[in-house]
Amino acid sequence: MSSKCAPESGRVVPVVDRNRCGAKQDCVTVCPFGVFAMGVLGPAERAGLSLKGRIKAFVHRGRQAFAVNADQCHACGLCVTACPEQAIRLVPANIPS
Ligand code: SF4
Repeated sequence: MSSKCAPESGRVVPVVDRNRCGAKQDCVTVCPFGVFAMGVLGPAERAGLSLKGRIKAFVHRGRQAFAVNADQCHACGLCVTACPEQAIRLVPANIPS
């Protein structure tokens, strides 16, 4: 656990920018709470991509990181720092992404 971690989860959640994620998995590796897992974009997520996002998705066969356990986020920010694509931001948990 990072010294920057909040004592409790649930204050913020990570949001992955679908147009930026490059499937590098750094967030999966760095998160001490297992918030992220790799997955494949669904049709609705693909439909919302920009041209650049569609190209990235094609290159990576639709694989991206997903915050499957977002409610376990302790706000340490390690994933934000680790992501080489600057694809992750933390938002207040009560604001829909
Ligand atoms: S800020 Fe990122 S690395 Fe830290 S607990 Fe939340 S999801 Fe995991």
